[in-house]
Amino acid sequence: MQNPLTPEVLADPVALTRALVDIESVSLNEKAIADCVEEVLRAVPHLTTHRYANTVMARTDLGRAQRVVLAGHLDTVPHNDNWPSTMRGDLMYGCGTSDMKSGVAFALHLAVTLPDPRYDVTYLFYEAEEIESRYNGLTLLADAHPDWLTADFAVLLEPTYGIVEAGCQGVLRATVTTTGARAHAARSWHGVNAVHAAGEVLRRLTAYEARRVTIDGCEYREGLNAVGIHGGVAGNVIPDRCDVEVNFRYAPDRDPAAAEAHVREVFAGFDLVVTDSAPGAAPGLDAPPAREFLAAVGAAPIGKLGWTDVARFAAMGVPALNFGPGDPNLAHHRDEHVELTKIRDGAATLHRWLAPA
Ligand SMILES: [Zn+2]
Repeated sequence: MQNPLTPEVLADPVALTRALVDIESVSLNEKAIADCVEEVLRAVPHLTTHRYANTVMARTDLGRAQRVVLAGHLDTVPHNDNWPSTMRGDLMYGCGTSDMKSGVAFALHLAVTLPDPRYDVTYLFYEAEEIESRYNGLTLLADAHPDWLTADFAVLLEPTYGIVEAGCQGVLRATVTTTGARAHAARSWHGVNAVHAAGEVLRRLTAYEARRVTIDGCEYREGLNAVGIHGGVAGNVIPDRCDVEVNFRYAPDRDPAAAEAHVREVFAGFDLVVTDSAPGAAPGLDAPPAREFLAAVGAAPIGKLGWTDVARFAAMGVPALNFGPGDPNLAHHRDEHVELTKIRDGAATLHRWLAPA
């Protein structure tokens, strides 16, 4: 394949976004796009480029006091009659336009066009963000080449519609189980109905008052919800077991242990098993590169409510935030698109931040 990432395309973040979108890269099929990105980066004299599986890393080594990461995932969710890209006025449509080839284009454009950034920069183009964590390029790097991730601050170029979304909330999933005793429905007084017992679990959820927590000026809004319920044996049997699946989204002032203790307190008296847990990340806006980044953006940050790879960096001690041109509400939708002005403005913001003083 002729590499579509020509010098003219690399010079224009809009054209570059479109070229990246039109290289198909549904998760686990990132080889072609990683090949194109790697070839471009290896030709840049001011960068040192390495590749691991389908993740490409390029870095400057200018001896700056601080190092920042610009990171974007190369994969997309499966197409939905929305590929290749199309243009309608100021909008570019297609799978990956928002999430997140437009963000990837920022990093690749800067990598090629900015030989003397004011910080040392590590550009990371990684695979398999949209699927299970064990495939995620950052997970693989944390094992194989943790030194590639060393930095003082990281920007993940996920869609945020041009504002800074800082930190992220933690996630805890648990199953709350009630038990009883089976009996024929015609003689129900011989049994104990576990589905009825789950009523108290639901009442506690309904009465639950979720916190709103402000950290570094960013509000995080928690939520504790039933997301599934399962019970019942047959149409004529009093059920002896009911499982309520609970999902807790928690602000980053709680760690996973504190989140679990809180959920156990809410459901005191019930059997509870934690089935999944992922820590959140504090906004981390104190690092000097983060403060300068906020100044370059010129708008107040907000708290990230979903879980993102920001938390992986936070777990490695690297404060990180999300900043990208796409609208997060359009990610994974059939009519996914990005505004060309958001691409141009965002690229200019990053350039302002990284250009030599
Ligand atoms: Zn994404």
